[in-house]
Amino acid sequence: MGFFADFHVHSRYSRSTSPGLELSELARWAEIKGIGVVGSGDFTHPSWFRSLETNLTDCASGLFSLKQNHRSIHFILSSEISLIYKQNGKVRKVHLLLLAPSLATVEKINASLGRRFNLRADGRPILGASARDISAEILAIDDRVMIIPAHIWTPWFSLLGSRSGFDSLEECFEDLSPNIHAVETGLSADPPMLAKVSSLRRFTVLSNSDAHSAQNLGREANELDCPLTYDGIARAIRCGEVVRTIEFFPEEGKYHHDGHRQCAISLTPAAAREMADICPVCGKPLTLGVLHRVEDLADVRGESLRPFSYQIPLRQVLAQLLHCGENSKKVGRSYFSLIERLGPEFSIMQSLAFQTIAAADERLAVAVRAMRENRVRRIPGFDGVYGKIILDLPRASGG
Ligand SMILES: [Zn+2]
Ligand SMILES: [Zn+2]
Repeated sequence: MGFFADFHVHSRYSRSTSPGLELSELARWAEIKGIGVVGSGDFTHPSWFRSLETNLTDCASGLFSLKQNHRSIHFILSSEISLIYKQNGKVRKVHLLLLAPSLATVEKINASLGRRFNLRADGRPILGASARDISAEILAIDDRVMIIPAHIWTPWFSLLGSRSGFDSLEECFEDLSPNIHAVETGLSADPPMLAKVSSLRRFTVLSNSDAHSAQNLGREANELDCPLTYDGIARAIRCGEVVRTIEFFPEEGKYHHDGHRQCAISLTPAAAREMADICPVCGKPLTLGVLHRVEDLADVRGESLRPFSYQIPLRQVLAQLLHCGENSKKVGRSYFSLIERLGPEFSIMQSLAFQTIAAADERLAVAVRAMRENRVRRIPGFDGVYGKIILDLPRASGG
């Protein structure tokens, strides 16, 4: 029996995160969602690192659990770093996700980076160094650290992004490219989009939530079936032994289409190209989204071999069924009552038999079937605006 893992989350020390984002809150939501392994997030931040040391106990496997409660949830030491630098005459902005095997390794990484950079300013620190050089520095400390380019397609701050990225991982990591084994899709992309670029085919595809609040844990995730240890997980990532990824419908991500948020302009890549990528309202360059960038770099046809399933957050499904906001009290009540009766969100959305769901809530069973069969209407996100995914449901008879 496999387990779900979400490696990329943040703590309350990262910008624009919720102040209650503590380890116990992450573990509580991991239980509600049915996620067995969660990233610690932000291990480079001195205060968060102290909190990791104080609250976590090593399960003698390179994974950790809370000392006090939710002890079935395992944490893996993780952090995201933001690199801003010049390479080949262009400004590059790249986010990398790090996974580390021990607190001792993290301590050494923090000491090494902390000599030159301010790690205290942000849970996701900005480092003025190249992805290649930082990777060399980290791998020299411990070559078991996993370095994973984060949300590789988003226009800003990603390895292949339209604004400040590269055209390939090899161009970015140069001689260290063989040490990179996996990439993260990001919310606006899915495995079939990645499969269109031949240079990406050798990489394991991972999907994570990049959650800035505990509620958003597992928006995207990975199903693994490997020993529940750091080395087991690292080996599965290195060898591409991921059972499947759990994906947002990519149109829901904030950067799927091209456009301008200020000008309320959203365009397909073809429509944007017709306008020479210039906004018809303000005359400035459009923010080119993930789909555009994928089309620019695409060089192969054929199906993705990476198994994956789309998933819509249960709260969002309930909001559609109950005709009220996702964060409304009504949705909240219904959500927790369903979790109590049916178990974790991931099993409701992915595996529970329809008749079991129907016994608790008939309309939810119909909605989950529509989601599992990908029967949805999609309104793509653009330039920082989330898209909308609307389940294709039969009209309720008699209200
Ligand atoms: Zn990021
Ligand atoms: Zn504009």
